[in-house]
Amino acid sequence: MEYKHFRHQHNLNIHQVQQGQQLRCSGCESFCHGSVYACWQCNFFLHSHCGNATRYVKHPSHPSHPLILIPQPTYCSGSFLCNACGQSGSTFSYCCALCEVDLHVHCAFLPPEVSHKVHPHELSLIYSALEKKGAPQFCKICSKSLESKHWTYSCTKCNFGVHTFCATTEVKPGLYQMEDPADGVTPEGYPGLQQDVSEAKEDQIEVELSEEALVQLYKLQLQMQMAEQVAQVMASMNLS
Ligand SMILES: [Zn+2]
Ligand SMILES: [Zn+2]
Ligand SMILES: [Zn+2]
Ligand SMILES: [Zn+2]
Ligand SMILES: [Zn+2]
Ligand SMILES: [Zn+2]
Repeated sequence: MEYKHFRHQHNLNIHQVQQGQQLRCSGCESFCHGSVYACWQCNFFLHSHCGNATRYVKHPSHPSHPLILIPQPTYCSGSFLCNACGQSGSTFSYCCALCEVDLHVHCAFLPPEVSHKVHPHELSLIYSALEKKGAPQFCKICSKSLESKHWTYSCTKCNFGVHTFCATTEVKPGLYQMEDPADGVTPEGYPGLQQDVSEAKEDQIEVELSEEALVQLYKLQLQMQMAEQVAQVMASMNLS
């Protein structure tokens, strides 16, 4: 079976990673285990969850705009800082160019709740650190500080908070999604990976249209961002 990913020009095949074989995922830069999507010609590999990441998400942490999956950061530095975990990345990110929001693929799909042996209660994902009268908070696993702008797994009853990456070391990476209590529908978006079979013609047309719409949306976001920068420069010139 061959697969087509919208970020790669060749078809991909499923490959079982052998012991000792070191293949880095082109989506998240970490090593691959188990089965991966592979293009040997280009040394392009994707974890299944990275390959199946949707082209955009409507994420509860950023409800005002859709976050669009981009293959590389558009910043001059060539890397981005993830708004969820605070760590950098230089491959796939879910991005709102307008607000400079960037999320690693795995951070965009963290499970809404995890249990961890360090705490008897379930920990819920919250999009900030616990606020306790402005006092700095520390991760109960690694003892390093919890930045209020980054996400945490918390038990609010016990005022217990930990870093997302500390709480999920034993969680299998995957595409966890928030359940929308309103209608029970999973977040919208088309999977990045399509089975390369021609039977699905009707679907494909729809996907192409939406992809075009996404490109337009992304361009629009960039244009607005540029317009904003121009306006800032103009404003600063007027002041001086
Ligand atoms: Zn990956
Ligand atoms: Zn290739
Ligand atoms: Zn992250
Ligand atoms: Zn935004
Ligand atoms: Zn920690
Ligand atoms: Zn608790």
